[in-house]
Amino acid sequence: MSLLALPALADNYIWLCADAAGNALVVDPGAAAPVQTALAQRGWCLRAIVLTHHHADHIGGAAQLADATGAPIHAPVDARIGRADVRVADGDRIELTGGALALDVIAVPGHTMTHLAYVGPDLLFCGDTLFSVGCGRMFEGTPTQMLASLDRLAALPGTTRLCCGHEYTLANCAFARSIEPGNAALAAREAAVRELRARGEPSLPSTLADELACNPFLRVDAAAIVAAIPATSRVERFAQLRRRKDEFRGAST
Ligand code: ZN
Ligand code: FE
Repeated sequence: MSLLALPALADNYIWLCADAAGNALVVDPGAAAPVQTALAQRGWCLRAIVLTHHHADHIGGAAQLADATGAPIHAPVDARIGRADVRVADGDRIELTGGALALDVIAVPGHTMTHLAYVGPDLLFCGDTLFSVGCGRMFEGTPTQMLASLDRLAALPGTTRLCCGHEYTLANCAFARSIEPGNAALAAREAAVRELRARGEPSLPSTLADELACNPFLRVDAAAIVAAIPATSRVERFAQLRRRKDEFRGAST
């Protein structure tokens, strides 16, 4: 199976994957052109379009791609996504027409109330819920909902490759370092990401095992985070961590 992160817009990634026969699916095509170019270069046939949430930078190219290829749009039940061929929800499974790839749908409210994540073979398409060394802003959900969503993702196998919606990793590392300055795994990840980015390469996918070692939002129970953020409960600690990130203005260097 092939997996590509296509850079789009300011700092989005559109994820394109295909089985050995060239049956492809795309996740969160915020623009159509990069997808069409990649499909043409490889001779792949687009079989499905999959959307995580309604924000324009994730759905902007979906209709154009559907019109050009006939691939059905899979989307959460949300009126803010006007066009969809198949509405999907927690527990559903998306099977690729003529292809070997399948995705399981899980609900991850928090960034938006109807945000979905898609789990494939050692793959997680998590949109703006979980980023490498960070998590999405809570535009619509509560800290309780967002933390429950992150807990669900954290329970996937450690080998799961994380396919996130944005390249935010370096800035996230700067914040994480301010919370957990003694985390050696985080320091190693930041150094590796700095090299990748200097070469113009994506910092993604990362693995869930890496995130469990580095990502403060998956480490609310870690002793260093408990010590850094005094709170009366786990959810309150998570909420404070997210608030500190919202207010963080540290240099990314
Ligand atoms: Zn978003
Ligand atoms: Fe986004």
